[in-house]
Amino acid sequence: MWQQLRQRWQQRREAAAVARKPIADDLWKRTLVRYPFLRRRSVTDAAELRRMTSLFLDRKEFDAAPGVRLTNDVVVAVAAQACLPVLRLGLQAYDRFVGIVLHPDQVVAKRSVVDDDGVVHEYDELLSGEAMEGGPVMLSWRDVRTAGRSAADAYNVVIHEFAHVLDMADGHANGVPRLPPGLPLAEWQAVLDSEFKAFVTRVDAEEDTALDPYGAEAPEEFFAVASEAFFVHPQAMKAEHPALYGVFVRFYRQDPAAEAS
Ligand SMILES: [Zn+2]
Repeated sequence: MWQQLRQRWQQRREAAAVARKPIADDLWKRTLVRYPFLRRRSVTDAAELRRMTSLFLDRKEFDAAPGVRLTNDVVVAVAAQACLPVLRLGLQAYDRFVGIVLHPDQVVAKRSVVDDDGVVHEYDELLSGEAMEGGPVMLSWRDVRTAGRSAADAYNVVIHEFAHVLDMADGHANGVPRLPPGLPLAEWQAVLDSEFKAFVTRVDAEEDTALDPYGAEAPEEFFAVASEAFFVHPQAMKAEHPALYGVFVRFYRQDPAAEAS
């Protein structure tokens, strides 16, 4: 009884949120044309993605650095791509963060490392995006905007950063997101570890890979990079990493290679 009441209340609240942030038909169509990986879906999934995109816009806060205007096209482009990985997991998977900051282009971050002799080395790192525990998600609009074209290279900055958000839901960025009951941690870890090690070997040998070689940096980057490929270039990801593809299907509860045509 209470359960049903709560469910009805939740549905009413969500319907109100969708009504507050409606996405016009022509804007939604433009978005699907720009980002073809969003439209290779069943009719039901496409409708759910559009509904979740409205909910996302209602719950999250967008900020823009100078040089970016937060038009409807811009925020919908970000929100729709961010919702794709959680289409079956639900938006609550993103409850631990609220803010998104858009920069016009990549951002230079000052980094420093201490070497074995205790000497500090300063260097610049170019970032297309960044997701930090407890902080906002930063994205380069240039990278977000061109995501339709870069899908052929299995590159997608929004999905990359939001994979990190999922990974950090338990407080740790380690390539292990919160797993569903039917997917044991030991199995996830065994597959991720062996695929990561094999990938590092291939990248070190300078082989061509379907996934962005940046994934060889660390297991959490491998998870984020493999998630990009899973959603925007699924056949290539499945062909090179069938075992990883299999556990991703169980985690994300989607099978993009089967849906894509
Ligand atoms: Zn990353």
